[in-house]
Amino acid sequence: MTFTLPSLPYDYSALEPLFDTATMHLHHDKHHAAYVDNLNKALADYPELQKKSIEDILRNLNSVDPKIRQSVINNGGGHANHSFFWTILAPPSSPYPAGLLADAINSAFGSLNKFKEVFTAKAMGVFGSGWAFLLKTPDGKLALKRHSFQNSPLSHGNIPLLAVDMWEHAYYLKYQNRRVDYLEAFWHLINWPQVEKYFSTP
Ligand code: MN
Repeated sequence: MTFTLPSLPYDYSALEPLFDTATMHLHHDKHHAAYVDNLNKALADYPELQKKSIEDILRNLNSVDPKIRQSVINNGGGHANHSFFWTILAPPSSPYPAGLLADAINSAFGSLNKFKEVFTAKAMGVFGSGWAFLLKTPDGKLALKRHSFQNSPLSHGNIPLLAVDMWEHAYYLKYQNRRVDYLEAFWHLINWPQVEKYFSTP
């Protein structure tokens, strides 16, 4: 086993009642695990890729054999996106961003509330399965972007700072079709210090 499923950085019940324990188990133990398993299967005959990090592989898709490239985009992207997603969530006590991240959000979007509004609209606009991201572009600017399926921002030269999973498996058990309620819950669960850390990393 080359790639392994990372443990959640908190208990499965830590985000209750907003993100429920059953969904966290299903999402992490089944969905994320399946991406990891299928990534390992895809890379079984590629020992040189097995030595790299999934982030490095996704940043350099051109160096991946076209025969397995789509599987790496799907399953490697799924592994990277979920590993990232768990880290930007936290129990609802995390303080709002301060310092450089707050400055950047205010300058790009006007205010934190305005940012939450446009990010929510971006996420609500994901058609079918996909993600909404806050990204740092290569020139250091903030940008919002949707990606279909498990397409990774890393493959487009961008650094993810914040993400929300808009696949039905992320919310359907608890919220059914009420995506706006899922997103409302999401805003209470942001690990802002971690987002700030991603933003400050050169
Ligand atoms: Mn997911």
